[in-house]
This record gives sequence, C-alpha cells and structure tokens, in this order.
Amino acid sequence: MQRRAMFFRPRTKPGSDSNAAVDDLQDVGQRSLIRMIFASTGLTLGVFCALQFMAGNYLFASFELVATATLLWGAWRIVRVRNLLPWIYLYLVPTFSFLLYIIVIPNASKTAFVWVYSIPVLSYLLLGLKRGSLLSLPFVIGACLLYLYTYPVQRDAESLIDLGNAVFCGVMILVFVYLYEARRATAYQKLQHMARTDALTGVASRGSFQQSLEQSIREAKRSQAKLVLVVLDIDYFKAVNDQYGHDAGDQALRHICNSLSHRLRSTDTLGRLGGEEFGLLLRNTDGRGAEPLVENLRAQLCSQPMRYGSQDIPLSATFGLAEWPADGSSAEQLYRCADQRLYRGKEQGRNCVVGRHSAEHVGE
Ligand code: GH3
Ligand code: MG
Ligand code: MG
Repeated sequence: MQRRAMFFRPRTKPGSDSNAAVDDLQDVGQRSLIRMIFASTGLTLGVFCALQFMAGNYLFASFELVATATLLWGAWRIVRVRNLLPWIYLYLVPTFSFLLYIIVIPNASKTAFVWVYSIPVLSYLLLGLKRGSLLSLPFVIGACLLYLYTYPVQRDAESLIDLGNAVFCGVMILVFVYLYEARRATAYQKLQHMARTDALTGVASRGSFQQSLEQSIREAKRSQAKLVLVVLDIDYFKAVNDQYGHDAGDQALRHICNSLSHRLRSTDTLGRLGGEEFGLLLRNTDGRGAEPLVENLRAQLCSQPMRYGSQDIPLSATFGLAEWPADGSSAEQLYRCADQRLYRGKEQGRNCVVGRHSAEHVGE
C-alpha cells in the first residue's frame, strides 16, 4: 500500500491555503487600495501645488510640493511595509487636519468644505468600522463647527437651504458608508469562517489546521512546551460507503468528529486533512502523556457503532503519533513521522495507536 503525497508542505508563497488566502487577499487588497489613495492624493495635491505657484503663493506651494513628494514615496513603499496602521494614521490625521484648515483660511473657496465628505469614506475604507468611527467623528464635528464659525447661519430661507444641503448630504454619506462597511465586514467574517471550517464536519479545515500546527510549533519553540501531532485514518471506510451508501459515509465522518471532539481539551485542535483522514493537535503534552488519551479515543470510537436508520455501523480508525521536538522540528517532519506510523498501524491490522513508545516495541 502506497501512502499518498505529503500533506504538510511549508507554505512557499502566501495564499497557498484557503484561510491564509482569504487573509492574504484582504491584505493585498488593502495595500493596493492605500497605494491608490496615496497616489491620487499626491497627484491632486501636485495639481494644486502648480496652481499655487502660478498664483505666487510660494510658501503654500512649497508645502504642497513636499506633501506631494511624501505621498508618492509612500505609495511606492506601502506594498513592502510590515505594519500598515501607523502609515494609515500618518496619512489620515494630517490630511483631515488640512481639510479642516482649508475651510477657515482667509479667502477660502466657499465649496472647500465638500472635501470634509471624504473623511468618513477614507476612515471606514482604511480603518474599518470601529477605528474609522473613532477617527472620523471628531473631525466631522470639528468641520461642522468651523463651517458654522466661518459662515454664520442667517435666518433667511436661502441660507437655511444652503445649510440643509451641506448637513443632510454629509449625514447621508456617513450613514451609507457605515452601512456598506458593516456589510462588507460581515461578508468577510463569513468568508473567513468558511475557509477555516470543513463544511461537512464543522471541524478545522486542512489549511486552518496546518496554520494552527505551525503556530503551535513556533510557540513551543519559545516556551519549550511539548506538543503531539496525531494523524488518524478511518479503517475500511470505502466499504462503509459501498455497503451503506455515501450518505451513511458522510454521517459517519460527522459521528467520528463529534465523538473525538467530546473527549478533547479546549486547547486541542481537530482538523480534517482530507477524505476520511483527520489531524489532532494535542498541546502541552508529550507522547507518553498523549498515547493513553489517544488509546481511549480509539477504544471509544470502536465501542460506539454509529446508528444509521435501524442499523449499527461499526467504525474504527488507525492513529499515528509524532511528538515535537523528538520526532521532528517542523510541521512537515512531524507529519511525515505520524503518517509513517499510521501506515505501520494499517499494516499491523488497523484499529490501533502507533506512537514513539508503542513503536519502540515494534522495532522502529
Ligand atoms: P484503509 O483502512 O486502508 O484506510 O481503507 P479505506 O477503505 O478507508 O481507504 P481508501 O483510501 O481506499 O478509501 C477511502 C474512502 O473514503 C474512499 C472515498 O470514497 C471515501 N471518502 C472520502 N471522502 C469522503 C466524503 O467526504 N464522504 C464520503 N461519504 N466518503 C468519502
Ligand atoms: Mg481509510
Ligand atoms: Mg485515507
């Protein structure tokens, strides 16, 4: 019997697993959006800079020239920076302050306040709902106060209409952008959940399980804690499908996941690696501690046949264990070791647990 190709390969490029791909997609989208915003703000400011030079406002024009150059440099750098948040705040706070300033400068255009409408749009786009609200609200309130200070409200109908136009348009933009961002965030969370969960059984997906394993190894390296990877494969599962039908097979997969999940600690992770093969990640334990636990899981699984209609379907699985760091230092090495032991368990007759300590008895 030939075991199939290695399951755990180190991620060679971002996005090679579904849940990582969702995160990477979000990150790449965010970076290209910021790049576009930096570049378009820089170019807009560049045009105003040229106009200010022509109008003879050299000080103001020089300031705009520096800002233009900084923004274009930022647009070029942004794809490579580690943490986007400081860059976003460094862009938004001065930009919003500038937008407030142009309302009050002497001889300012009467329509300069329309730029304030971009404050909630940019804030929600770049910072999400919570941070976006926290940043945009004080600026929007400040802009309203400055506007009222610069253009005191007259009691005649014409200026009340002017004020109504400015305020209601602003409120509608604020509400619509908020609603849009709320829906986008919910859709993203759903997508993330779908990528992290196996649709049939509800346990962690392969990609999510691999990420957990890699993360646990990194943590174990820092804290010198032990961890154990278990790979299990259901015995004669093809026969279950053939004899009782595919639907019974699906139900058996869910039954096994429920059975395993009930016995695991909250710190352990169960994931579906593919088909009828599952992974178990047991943290803060070594092989000696894990083997009795896994032996219990195995015994429980085969002592509780699955009820399907009026029939009892007997189920069992074979388990291969590998412990960090004794059996390997990387996810790939651990997987290879657990897989070889699982293979040996199958050869020995199935429905058994093969770990480092049980393997010693069978001459590993
Ligand atoms: P062994 O004890 O050697 O593991 O034998 P086996 O029959 O379990 O192994 P084999 O790899 O030959 O068969 C696995 C079967 O699992 C084949 C495939 O149809 C079935 N299977 C894989 N995924 C699913 C699924 O999502 N639902 C159902 N019902 N069956 C599945
Ligand atoms: Mg099988
Ligand atoms: Mg299999």
